[in-house]
Amino acid sequence: MKNNKSFYITTTLPYINAEPHIGFAMEIIRADALARYKALTGHDVFFNTGTDEHGKKIWESAQKEGMETQAFTDKLSQRFKLLKDTLDLYDDVTFIRTTDEHHKKAAQEFWKLVDKNGYIYKKNYQAKYCVGCELEKTDSELVDGKCPIHPNRDLEIIEEENYFFKFSEFTQPLLDYYEVNKDFIRPDFRFEEIKSFVSGGLQDFSISRSKEKMPWGVPVPGDDEQVMYVWFDALVNYISTLGWPNSENFTKFWEEGQTVQIAGKDNLRQQSAMWQAMLMAAELPPTQTILINGFLNGPDGRKMSKSLGNVLSPDEVLALLPVDALRFYLVNEVSPFEDSPISLDLIKDAYTAHLVNGIGNLTNRIVKMASSYDVTVALPSPEEVWEDKEFVSPEFHDHMNNFVPQKSLQYLFKEIREMDTFITREEPFKKIKVDEEAAKEDVARLMINLWYIGVLLEPFMPEASEKIKQAVANKEVPAAPIFPRLA
Ligand SMILES: [Zn+2]
Repeated sequence: MKNNKSFYITTTLPYINAEPHIGFAMEIIRADALARYKALTGHDVFFNTGTDEHGKKIWESAQKEGMETQAFTDKLSQRFKLLKDTLDLYDDVTFIRTTDEHHKKAAQEFWKLVDKNGYIYKKNYQAKYCVGCELEKTDSELVDGKCPIHPNRDLEIIEEENYFFKFSEFTQPLLDYYEVNKDFIRPDFRFEEIKSFVSGGLQDFSISRSKEKMPWGVPVPGDDEQVMYVWFDALVNYISTLGWPNSENFTKFWEEGQTVQIAGKDNLRQQSAMWQAMLMAAELPPTQTILINGFLNGPDGRKMSKSLGNVLSPDEVLALLPVDALRFYLVNEVSPFEDSPISLDLIKDAYTAHLVNGIGNLTNRIVKMASSYDVTVALPSPEEVWEDKEFVSPEFHDHMNNFVPQKSLQYLFKEIREMDTFITREEPFKKIKVDEEAAKEDVARLMINLWYIGVLLEPFMPEASEKIKQAVANKEVPAAPIFPRLA
């Protein structure tokens, strides 16, 4: 029985050899908004993120640095752990590392189970492999002999005896699952893309490497010569984080709760086909919903790359702007599903227009009037606001429950613009001289509206939400501006 009061959401796990990417910041901030929303509306929430730490690239880099590999990954994973503070994430977010002992044990248990069910075998083979995608590529997928997503990388030729997962046996089970779960992948055009990929027939994929060539991995159960390669290690984190195979949390969140995964479009196949087939092979329930983000490109729409000099890191943004400016931009200004441009200038413009001159300025004006006209209002508790089905449009909740936080945030900003319009039309600052009662009523109405906005902004901009609530509750213009004007 699905218990809709338990809510599970996970990001993908970034590979730790690169700095945190702005695209990952988008993924995790959107997941954070949904996790916070579910917690605020009375759900038990399990929010998972972390780092993928095995593989050849890490092992080689550690050797170059002259460091022990585990110590090296400890250092690198720290950069991602810091995101919890720098991106102001939900307090109870779980940070899993694929080098955690309990994860490695779970990965081995998962392997054993799938093996017992007859879906793992060993064979000699030769394949072209894109290390960028961590995927084997067939000739039909290549453009000019290169991976179209990573045209600057040479493909690796692998020739060895490895274990394989019988992915090919899951063509029909996956198509059946897609058929029954009409909203499994959002958006629709990505769902169509994966359906068409699976309908084309699936190829078994390799899931181990020889330990001799690649020692930095989880040992394959019962074979000292082989370690797991990427999938049966990395993807299993989504349930090892819950304590699988033995845990109440797995039952509560994965089996009985609502499960949501969020990923970039380059992860469509891994999350919506490979991982789902692996779950089926282990006789575990598939994920219920997968959200697929587009890419963030440079301001001219070209892909971010070092050579074009258009790479933007979360740290560069946070050095100049409050974290809520970044959170706002990545939820409100970036398309939920399509590729979108991003640059420091675009973020600054949106910040000034909607936050400094928008909600920041509006808060000051309203609170100042309430204080000088001595307006008293009774404010509902935040809990009451979250439960309020009359004052808050169902539209706001529907969009969150359909996992499109952008539309809920846009709804709040439409309300904010209407409050501005109301002030311009009613002019309470003039009215106060001729009709004190009416002016006070206007301001009281604005204060209540602002309080609701302050409360409802929490999933998106937690810091600003707190400051707006305080300003309204204390009827006091904040000593430091909520959104400082840029120099
Ligand atoms: Zn590639």
